[in-house]
Amino acid sequence: MDIQYRLEQKRKVLADFPGPRSLELAARRAQAVAAGVASSVPVYVADADGGIIHDVDGNSFIDLGSGIAVTTVGASDAAVVGAVKEQVEHFTHTCFMVSPYEGYVAVAEKLNQLTPGEHAKRTVLFNSGAEAVENAIKIARIATGRTAVVAFDHAYHGRTNLTMGLTAKAMPYKHGFGPFAGEVYRAPMSYPFREENPQITGKEAAERAILMMSKQIGADQIAAIIIEPIQGEGGFIVPADGFLPRLAEFAKENGIVFIADEVQSGFARTGEWFAVQHEGVVPDLVTTAKGIAGGMPLSAVTGRAELLDAVHGGGLGGTYGGNPVACAAALAAIDTMETQDLRGRAREIEATVKERLGKLQAELGEASIIGEVRGRGAMLALEFVERGSASTAKVPDAAATKKIAEYCLKEGVIILTCGTYGNVVRLLPPLVISDELLADALDVLEAAIRSVA
Ligand SMILES: *Cc1c(COP(=O)(O)O)cnc(C)c1O
Repeated sequence: MDIQYRLEQKRKVLADFPGPRSLELAARRAQAVAAGVASSVPVYVADADGGIIHDVDGNSFIDLGSGIAVTTVGASDAAVVGAVKEQVEHFTHTCFMVSPYEGYVAVAEKLNQLTPGEHAKRTVLFNSGAEAVENAIKIARIATGRTAVVAFDHAYHGRTNLTMGLTAKAMPYKHGFGPFAGEVYRAPMSYPFREENPQITGKEAAERAILMMSKQIGADQIAAIIIEPIQGEGGFIVPADGFLPRLAEFAKENGIVFIADEVQSGFARTGEWFAVQHEGVVPDLVTTAKGIAGGMPLSAVTGRAELLDAVHGGGLGGTYGGNPVACAAALAAIDTMETQDLRGRAREIEATVKERLGKLQAELGEASIIGEVRGRGAMLALEFVERGSASTAKVPDAAATKKIAEYCLKEGVIILTCGTYGNVVRLLPPLVISDELLADALDVLEAAIRSVA
């Protein structure tokens, strides 16, 4: 990796925190912005680059969230910035459904090339992850002539009506927002840390889900199975080996469209272009967004040509889908991922973080609050449990998790929490973060865990 940073890569937190300008903005926000949109941190951003976010009061934070897995190449990657400027100077929008342009086609070609499988593929572009998921379901339904859709426990697929229905967690995502779309069914997930029978294999966990699908829906009624290969909001849950391949096989045997929702796990994040590749799974459709375009809003559905082409002309689209500026950004971001070998960098980050946190877990021992350290590449997590319950009841400790995140923030490290039980700290650094900055962030995280443990 050879990255030139524009901003000094150093953490700094001043004594009065949050500072006066952030407080002033918070007061204006309270009068102007809907209360339903919450922010994890109380400071307002002035600038960001590499692994650093500067706030409006002169504080600098190490970014271990990447705006929720978006700024994989950093928040102001030079190539992305250059491509956006160049595109903006020519045209910002013509609507691909009215007057098409090359950038859209080039992004589609790139996605067809990068996603798993050698079969003929097509791509359609949208703006958000939820929009991609909705359209993947539309495509699966029309192509199969079936209606039922299967999602999993702990799943997160978005906040629109259909995707709320696919999402598992009620509070805050669904609470009070129903009724939800019909024909959505929920199957049991493989969650190794929380299995009642810790010996259960991935294949057995898949058979458990298949039994539910066969008995409660009927395999021949199912249009699609949608799954995050590593669950994001649900807690960075990595299913047991063999779970995804068996589900994909079941889908194939029964004419069901297997959709990998790679919105969070995709684009080099886990050390492969897509997380399904760790198990050699070839999905029928892949949904992407978040890391795809260096922070610009863009999403996609990519998959088997015969599925995408089953839709009548005009059946897919949207005013802004595949916006030319976002497409230019995506091509540049993907180029940075390739030229800087950010997949390799994700694997390096995994090795560094797992070694550090594994040591800490071993040192603190069975009686500590660290239940599990897990994840792939730079999509890593710590699940916290009440002291001493790591190998027994595994009682989720959301309070300790919150304290750890707060401690880190006060020391200048932004980390995000997640999980059905709110007891998971997730680490999603930009892949361009320097070794020094990552080590510094891990020092802070370690101190935070010790202070609570
Ligand atoms: C974030 C996310 C979505 C929704 O993406 P938006 O861009 O917020 O609509 C869908 N699926 C997964 C796996 C996600 O992580």
